[in-house]
This record gives sequence, structure tokens and C-alpha cells, in this order.
Amino acid sequence: MLIDGADGNYRNDNLLLGFSDLRRLRSERPLVFAKGRGIFVVDENGKDYIEAVSSFYCAALGFSDEELADAAMRQLRALPMYPSAIHRTTAPVMELSERLAAIAPVRNARVHFAVTGSEANDHLVKFMWYGNGFAGEPRRRKIISRKASYHGSTIATAALGGGRDLHDSFALPMQDYLVIGHPGWPDAAEPGEDETAFTDRLAAELDRVIQEAGPETVGGLIAEPVSVSSGMYPPPAGYFEKITTVLRRYGIRLFVDEVVTGFGRSGEMWASQAMGLEPDCVTCAKGISGAYMPIAALLLGEEFAGRLDRGSDAKGWFAHGATHAAHTVSAAVALKVLDIFDERDVLGHVRRIIPHWNAALDGLLDHPLVTGNRKFGLMGALKVADPREAPDGNAAASLQVGGIAKAIYEAGLEAGIIVRPLAGCLVMAPPLIITEAEIGELARRLRLALDRTLAALPAA
Ligand code: PMP
Repeated sequence: MLIDGADGNYRNDNLLLGFSDLRRLRSERPLVFAKGRGIFVVDENGKDYIEAVSSFYCAALGFSDEELADAAMRQLRALPMYPSAIHRTTAPVMELSERLAAIAPVRNARVHFAVTGSEANDHLVKFMWYGNGFAGEPRRRKIISRKASYHGSTIATAALGGGRDLHDSFALPMQDYLVIGHPGWPDAAEPGEDETAFTDRLAAELDRVIQEAGPETVGGLIAEPVSVSSGMYPPPAGYFEKITTVLRRYGIRLFVDEVVTGFGRSGEMWASQAMGLEPDCVTCAKGISGAYMPIAALLLGEEFAGRLDRGSDAKGWFAHGATHAAHTVSAAVALKVLDIFDERDVLGHVRRIIPHWNAALDGLLDHPLVTGNRKFGLMGALKVADPREAPDGNAAASLQVGGIAKAIYEAGLEAGIIVRPLAGCLVMAPPLIITEAEIGELARRLRLALDRTLAALPAA
């Protein structure tokens, strides 16, 4: 029960939240949100905040789109749910698979729906095991991920995620999971290493890890196009070309996690297109429905999907499914998102707004707490450091929230802006619908938070 006692003491004995300090949660009321309006969310006390992270990088069309709400209501009234399995499905799911296949960054894509990004990545691993088993390569089970990446919270995807706490806390990773270095340029580079030497070293490491594991035991490598959860690192020049060359040498697949970057973040529909990647499978979620309803998808390349066919032929069926995968209402909302992308030229808007976004991030570089920035599409990170402390070159190796970034986050809440604090930086990915004036207001509130944090620092 949630009790606000007469003495003003708060106690929460029931609600257990993820990525939270559970002791604090018992005695301190969390931030409770009640409404949304465009790029703003409003808490239970009526205070508004610019959601500079689109909540979890997902509310791409903001928090109050009437057309999305109407699409959901229409579907709720017509047929609120019906599972897509056992040779049965619904019209919105059929149409959505066709429309996604038509825009997918893999050729002749076959589409399988899940509920969350975690699930999509989890199923990717499962499907790889399944497909390779039936294609006469049962030993190709190992999957490679990169340090400090994030792919989800299921057992398999927490194992793929490279964050220390994600592993240590749950005794992961399990066997079949291989980890290579974080491509966070320049922070993860060795002293004196230039960008070419850095990417050469990462490619050589990948080659070595594959050789040591036995190339015939490795099925794929999963990568976020931009390392979001480690602090929004765009890939260094040449990185994906070199990585892909190594993978192709051994017949190992490239899986691209576009859970954050898909649906317009880069100014293209997919970051894979913006970067010229040729994935064997892409996973997506979040922006696919503007996050109004949970839905995720695997966009499987022809060869990969063909392996699933062979398994089904051998067994008489594909022994995998879930009640809420391809939820009918979620699919109807996702269809409306695709309509909105066309009708409102969302990609055109993102491309036009990116220079203003970049200028706003650069405009904060003069602040004493800001030491740099990283930018990609309509996303970015401000590097921050306490001027009284030596810089922590290793900050990006951890997903844990750091001191000064956390202090700025707290000051941001006061100033009416929500950013995502990580070790040594503040990460942002505002709703794609943000206007030039709203970017100005976002920068103003962020500067206020930075000023207040600086003013509150005890003198050295
Ligand atoms: N992949 C990436 C790159 C993510 O950032 C996330 C979540 N932030 C996920 C997968 C997992 O998605 P979900 O939270 O929907 O399970």
C-alpha cells in the first residue's frame, strides 16, 4: 500500500520499480506523471517537464497525438485483441508486416512481431539457434556483443548487454556469449591511437575472439548503430565496414539493434540506411508505435528466414509464439505511425531540425560543467565533468549513473527538463516532432540546470 501518513511520512510496501534504488523507493515517493502534451509531460502536481529523452527514447511523436489515440480506440472497439499464431491473425497485423517489409533495411524481409525490444532481441538469439540447427550448423550458437551496449532485460539480452551491473548482478553472461570492445571513440582508445588505429584494433580483436571461440561456433554479432546506453557514441569512421569484413570472412551474421535508432532518429527511417549497413536481421520497437502501445519487430533477411522455414518443414510447425505478440491494437497504432510519417513528412522535419539541434548542443559548450558533446541525428550527449575533479577517462565503460551527471539531472527536474544521466554525460533524444522554438526552450532549461548545479558545488 502507498501511505502518506499524518506525520508526512511516506511508505510504499508494494510497488517495485526497475532501474531504481529499492530502499529509496520504499520511503520516497517516485516522480508520478499524469499527462502529456507534445514534447512535455506533466507530473501529478501540475509541473511540466520537457522530455528530452522521449522518456525511454521512444515517444517519438510526443505525448498527445490524437490520431494515434483515435487509431487505438477504433481498433479497441472493432476487435481489441486476437492472438497472431496458430495460422490465425488480424488485418492490421497483415498490413503492418507488408508495410514494414517494404521499408525494411534488409531485402525481402520477413517480419515477426514481439512486444518489447528485449523480447525482439531475445527471439533473435533463439531464432538463430533454431535456424542454424535446422540448416546443418547446430554448433553456430555463439553470439558476439560489444561492451557497454544495451539490448534488453531478459536473460538472453541482459547477457548480451555489456554493462557491468547487468552481468554481475545476475551471474551472466552464460555460455555462448562473447564480448568485444566498446567502439566509444575517442574515450575507449589507447593513448596516442588515432581513429584508424582504433578501429583496426577493434576489428583485429573481433577476429581474434572469433578465432579463439572457433569460427564454426559463432552465429552472429549484435550491435546498436549508435551506442546509446553507454553515452550516445556514434561509430568511429570505418568501424562498421571493418567489423563487417571480419564477419563476412567467417560467414557470421550482422544483427542490428535499431530499437532506439529505428523510425527516424537519424533523419533516415533506419540508422542502417544512414550508415550503409547491410544487416541480416534488424530488431525494432519503441518508435514503431510512437510507444503508445507496446510492439516490437524482427525484420529477418531472406536467408535467415529461410532457415526458419526449414525448421518448420522438419517439425511440421514453428514452435514459438506468444499471446500479446503482434497485439491487434498495437499494430493498428503502428500503421497510423507509418501514415503520419508520410502525411506529416516526419523524416523531412527531422532533417530540417537536426542543424538547430546540433547548434543547441554546441551552444552549451561554453558552460564550465560541459566538456564536449556527441551528436548523431536527433540525439546527442553532453559530456559533463566536475571542474574540481580529474576527468574519468573510463567513465563510458559503466552504465552506472555518475555524480555530477546525476546532480545536473536532479537540477534539471527542478528546471523542468528530463535528461538521462549516465557516467560522465547527459544523454538526450527528444521527440521527433520538436520545433526550433522548443529546442531553444530545452537549451534554456538545461543551461539553468547546469548553472544551478555549478552554483551548488562546494568550493574546491
Ligand atoms: N535495445 C536497445 C538499443 C535499447 O536501448 C533498449 C531499451 N532502451 C532495448 C533494446 C530494450 O527494449 P525494451 O525496453 O523495449 O525491452
